[in-house]
Amino acid sequence: SGASADDLLTGLNPQQLDAVTYRGQALLIVAGAGSGKTSVLTRRIALLLRQREAWPSQILAITFTNKAAGEMRERVAQLVGDSARGMWISTFHSACVRILRREAEQFGFTKSFTIYDSGDSRALIKRLVKDHEADAFGFTPAAMQSRISKLKNELQDAESYARQANMSDPAERVFVEVFADYQRRLQKANAFDFDDLIGQTVYLFRAFPQVADVYRRRFRHILVDEYQDTNAAQYALIHELTRPVHGDAPEPYASNGMMIFEPDPHEAAGAEPGASLTVVGDSDQSIYAFRGADIRNISEFERDFPGAKVVLLEQNYRSTQNILSAANAVISNNFDRKDKKLWSDKGSGHAIVGFTGYSQHDEAQFVADEVESLRRAGMPYGEMAVFYRTNSQSRALEEIFIRSAVPYKIMGGTKFYERAEIKDALAYLVAIANPADEMAVRRILNKPRRGIGDVTETSIARFAEEHGLSFRDALAHPAQLGVGPKIQAAIALLDAVLREATEIMLPASGEVAPPTAVAEGLTLLLQKTGYMDALRASRDPQDEARLENLDELIAVTRDFARNNPEGTIADFLTEVALVSDADDLDDESGVVSLMTMHTAKGLEFDAVFVTGVEEDLIPHRISANEPGGPQEERRLFYVGITRARKRLHISLAMTRAQFGEVSVAMPSRFLQEIPAELIDWRQSPGDVNSRGGIQSRALNARRPGGSGGYGSGGSGGGSGDRFAPRALPKRDGLKPLSTAMDKFPNRVTAKVRDNGDLELAAGDRIRHDDFGEGKVEAITGEGAKRIAHVRFDAAGQKKLLVKIAPIEKL
Ligand code: ATP
Ligand code: MG
Repeated sequence: SGASADDLLTGLNPQQLDAVTYRGQALLIVAGAGSGKTSVLTRRIALLLRQREAWPSQILAITFTNKAAGEMRERVAQLVGDSARGMWISTFHSACVRILRREAEQFGFTKSFTIYDSGDSRALIKRLVKDHEADAFGFTPAAMQSRISKLKNELQDAESYARQANMSDPAERVFVEVFADYQRRLQKANAFDFDDLIGQTVYLFRAFPQVADVYRRRFRHILVDEYQDTNAAQYALIHELTRPVHGDAPEPYASNGMMIFEPDPHEAAGAEPGASLTVVGDSDQSIYAFRGADIRNISEFERDFPGAKVVLLEQNYRSTQNILSAANAVISNNFDRKDKKLWSDKGSGHAIVGFTGYSQHDEAQFVADEVESLRRAGMPYGEMAVFYRTNSQSRALEEIFIRSAVPYKIMGGTKFYERAEIKDALAYLVAIANPADEMAVRRILNKPRRGIGDVTETSIARFAEEHGLSFRDALAHPAQLGVGPKIQAAIALLDAVLREATEIMLPASGEVAPPTAVAEGLTLLLQKTGYMDALRASRDPQDEARLENLDELIAVTRDFARNNPEGTIADFLTEVALVSDADDLDDESGVVSLMTMHTAKGLEFDAVFVTGVEEDLIPHRISANEPGGPQEERRLFYVGITRARKRLHISLAMTRAQFGEVSVAMPSRFLQEIPAELIDWRQSPGDVNSRGGIQSRALNARRPGGSGGYGSGGSGGGSGDRFAPRALPKRDGLKPLSTAMDKFPNRVTAKVRDNGDLELAAGDRIRHDDFGEGKVEAITGEGAKRIAHVRFDAAGQKKLLVKIAPIEKL
């Protein structure tokens, strides 16, 4: 089955053909968006298989998201049929998990290690910041987390960092303490955080060359998509995997992974050569510098892999010329880039549609209306996507979409797996798969409520410490914890349920758990602990949704069993932990996709709406002070607009409730970089008077505080007038923002917000979507039933359920 080799090559342009058929050690394909980079990788793999140059198991392809991996696998399967099985097509993270699951025992972990996602590690870091009183030095958990993560992405650990840091600075000392303690706790919990997955695999390969050799022998062809966004750790991983197989060459690394001497290439001669490496990337689409990605990985490829072949692709097959011209014009404003000449033979196509709304709701209504008219013209919802810079922008869009009955899904928003009830259920599974994971056991201790509070938790921890037991094992000794009989009984029951579920999911060695073990075990846990019953008994409508979510999770475990008959509980948890931003539970091709521009990378749609094209959003205001920040934002905008095949819409609002205040929004400088003749403005601020009758007056389009960078590059050709004069409704002539929602009186109120554990205390000021601003007078109740008693400036006294009320703290 499958196509012949010739078929695999038809339709490729000469450069693509060159890239698909080149056979050498190292190949770099650099090209702009939509030029077929990912397609070339896919064809290359298919050709290797079709011509039997490689076994599927000898191929390792790295994509940026699990979704992209799935698509590539499917494409290859279409081209060559069944022989696609056994290939590793995955993200860096997934590939490393697979390696670590096999090898973890080499260095003090077990196969069933837990993966801490960023919420988990934040929780742990929060505790450590408190323990070490690091907050006294101005460290927030978030800042601490991002600093640690950055260092890990550079393959630094606490020790190596301490060696170069100024340790006479007490803030540095406390940082190093927290970092080191964090790493100890992870190790003790038999857990890796996301950064460790890669960093520890690199460490493993460096410390245990014979292990590395196994993978070097295995993977003969390594292919990496979106190479511009690899960071130092990922780069090191690729480097380790593509080294020649050691043979008997001396080992240049000490057991701690530090290089002791430069390996002599001649000494390795005679050993097998390294795997062939193909990387594709576009430095104009590098959008993860803030996470340590390094464009130099592309520019220095030829130095790092001597003799590498470089192929440039110039034809764009995705977009019409209008879209491409806009993209080219915008990106040409970045100064430190090589100019690329991307062209398309698709014809100029439709003009780009521009729209300026009065508010973000107005803007959202425009998007919904356009979506409907495209739909009527025959375009499926699944071919349309709406992008924004920050997740919080999705809310206005969602409200209008619900009201307008436009089917949509949020990709990477409030993720299913981040909901509290799902995290609880997963914590139960983790407590079984990896009892050493204290965080997981602590999490389920009082969920559902069994009267186990902080005092008991501390007693358990102390008992465990004194007797050299794990926290989990301490639960087997309720009578010795010095707690009352009721609590003893509760702990004994929890312990018994955990044991029973363990027997189902992890039968004694030799026995094999049935495929349905995870589903059965999970159901048992949720029932026998009373978790489901507690939700059923509740009158909170949210709890109904929580029950549904848990049912959904059980359905996920059943699917998993069907697709992975030999899958273990650890496999299931791995899959769950790796569900990344761009991934969703099921393929809902019939709905409009909403996502951030970051998530959009690599994807394509017939129609794209880039929303919120305003200063402070794109470029985002946090980028202003980052070196290279505005340039990275421009690349992000470039990524956004180059996703569109046929229709591109660009929109903004004049006022926006954002960052806790209603502010007048300024058009993004990037708008001015698009040649005016490419955009057909449906409504610009100048039209607002005629449409909405809103009193407006001119406002100088320059930002207060004067931004020298405004319209930098000046390629807009003096077209700044398109957005000015800015209509700024006078404050007193303007209805308070809360009633901007008056336009949508039937707004769906079932859509409530999940504020998580929003911290709120008497004296705080808040803003409510409908009631405006007010002051918190008291907080009563706890957990999901926490109630804020608020005196609103205009609306008077109200009681609100903190967890779900549409409020934000000011
Ligand atoms: P990005 O930089 O956005 O990731 P890319 O360079 O990876 O883009 P692809 O996604 O591989 O580009 O290709 C863009 C579109 O062009 C796809 O729909 C692909 O099928 C199509 N395409 C690529 N090469 C050709 C070709 N030779 N003939 C026709 N269509 C092509
Ligand atoms: Mg691509």
